[in-house]
Amino acid sequence: MLLEGSCHCGAVRFRVRSRHPYPFNLCYCSICRKTAGAGGFAINLGGEHDTLEVSGREHLRIYRARLREPGRAEAHESPAERHFCGLCGSHLWLWDPRWPELVHPLSAAIDTPLPVPPERTHLMLGSKASWVEPAIGPKDQQFAGYPKESIAEWHQRLGLVADA
Ligand SMILES: [Zn+2]
Ligand SMILES: [Zn+2]
Repeated sequence: MLLEGSCHCGAVRFRVRSRHPYPFNLCYCSICRKTAGAGGFAINLGGEHDTLEVSGREHLRIYRARLREPGRAEAHESPAERHFCGLCGSHLWLWDPRWPELVHPLSAAIDTPLPVPPERTHLMLGSKASWVEPAIGPKDQQFAGYPKESIAEWHQRLGLVADA
């Protein structure tokens, strides 16, 4: 399906084709929480990077998270590029050069009505903030870290892959 998104101030607008548009994947990691997760988590969708069209590109700012791994003294920069509007700060999408054919729009930046997921995945619960009490539905899956199932595989398992 075609997803249309924008930042809050409207300076940046984008469109992208998605076969994996269900907002089911709630990530409670500190990066998602700090950059986009007012409720303690953020939700990324799956889109096809070669279909991404952007207006207001000159307003984009890119953030690469600084990561510190246990047992290693120095922080290193994540290759993932988190795109924001430089005027209003809305987090719009993530693009990772390790998977260049994909782009991950933030569900909160999408203006197109998204389908309601029949079940959700709660990931990185080991990193959630102490005040966050996840709303776990009866069919939901929970993971302390990352699940093995990708965004694409979740849609395939549930027969919910959309026409691009
Ligand atoms: Zn903006
Ligand atoms: Zn995260």
